[in-house]
Amino acid sequence: MLRALFLAAPGAGKGTQGVRLAEKHGVVYLSTGDMLRDHVARETPLGKAAAGMMASGELVPDDLVVEMVLERMTKPSLVPGYVLDGFPRTIQQAEAAYLWGREVGTTFHAVISLAVPREELIRRVVERSRDSGRADDSVETFEHRLDVYDELTEPLLDFYRSRGILLEVDGTGSIAEVEARIDAALAEITID
Ligand code: ADP
Repeated sequence: MLRALFLAAPGAGKGTQGVRLAEKHGVVYLSTGDMLRDHVARETPLGKAAAGMMASGELVPDDLVVEMVLERMTKPSLVPGYVLDGFPRTIQQAEAAYLWGREVGTTFHAVISLAVPREELIRRVVERSRDSGRADDSVETFEHRLDVYDELTEPLLDFYRSRGILLEVDGTGSIAEVEARIDAALAEITID
C-alpha cells in the first residue's frame, strides 16, 4: 500500500493531485491544512492556538502538528497506506516522522515534489482566492507563505533526495498532465 507525501510550495497543486493519487491507490488522503482548518472551525484548543498563525501565513508549532498527525496515523489503529499533503514541513517535523516510522517499522515509499515557478503560483492563488474564501489567500499573505516555504520547507528536498526517495515532477501544465507525470514517476519505484 502506497505511503507517499507531497512536498511543494503553496498553490503547487498538492491537494488536487494528492486526492487523485490517494483514490487511485485506495489509501487515505491526509492534509494537515485541512485537519487544522477543521480544528479552527470546531474551536478546539488546537484550533484556537493555530488560527492566528495560519491566517498570517506562519507555520503552526512543530510539536502541535506532529502530535496531531501521529495521533491520526495511529489511532484507533495504524493507517497502512496514505498520501500526506502538508506534512512534514520543517526539518524537525521530518525527523519526528522518521523516528516515528522507525518505531512502527514503516518508511515512505516516495516524496513527490511539484516544481512550479513563483509567478505561476501567485497567478494561481489570485484565481483561487476569488472563490476559496481562505483567510490566508490574500496576495500579501500568500507571498509570505512562499517565503516561509523557501526558508523552512524547501530544505527538505535535499533531506529526501539524499535518502533516495525524492521524485521530482514538473508541476506546470494541466491537472491531467501533472497527474500523468506523477504516475510515470511512481511506476519507476517499488511499492511494497
Ligand atoms: P498551502 O499548502 O496552500 O500552504 P495548507 O492547507 O497546506 O496550505 O496549510 C495552510 C496553513 O496551515 C499553513 O500556512 C500553516 O499555517 C498550517 N500548516 C499546515 N500544515 C502544517 C505543518 N505541517 N506545520 C505547520 N503548519 C502547518
